Amino acid sequence: MRPIREERLRAALINTSQRERKALILPPGFGSLPRDGLDHLGWRDPKQPLVGYVFAELENDVVGVLLRQAERTPGTTAQCSWCEDVQLPNPVVFFSAKRPGAAGRNGDTVGVLICADSECSRNVRKRPAMAYLGFDVEAARQHRIERLREHVTGSRGISRGPDAAESALVHAPRRRCPRRGRS
Ligand SMILES: [Zn+2]
Repeated sequence: MRPIREERLRAALINTSQRERKALILPPGFGSLPRDGLDHLGWRDPKQPLVGYVFAELENDVVGVLLRQAERTPGTTAQCSWCEDVQLPNPVVFFSAKRPGAAGRNGDTVGVLICADSECSRNVRKRPAMAYLGFDVEAARQHRIERLREHVTGSRGISRGPDAAESALVHAPRRRCPRRGRS
């Protein structure tokens, strides 16, 4: 993910009120975070442990969403729908996100089951086990990295799909939120 300035990051949150954008607390070491090996940027709000933020690049732009961890606890074998790690190295939890714009203000939310502390980028970069003689470990690893990017910015993630009824986590409006300052 490319570097992004703080004010641009706040403005990129698409499903929040102005107050929530101002209240966003940056992740520790924000200015010096390593960008390589980071498919999306995600962290928990230190003051509100059930609140998390996820930012990803979409069509040469950065878009972010505020997520809230749900009370509901997934089963012990729940798999992250973004990194799909089968070794379950970290907890996976349900998050809900308000839809952007009027739908979200009216209480319309969508849910997603993902790694509790945004471990996905790390998980997909692990070298997979040799599945069979001649198995191309590096190709398999690259494939997982690409799949994660597709999931985060596709129908399981922060999508810009034109049809708001699709089952994506959040659909960004096609145009920039025209009422951003007043929401
Ligand atoms: Zn994950």
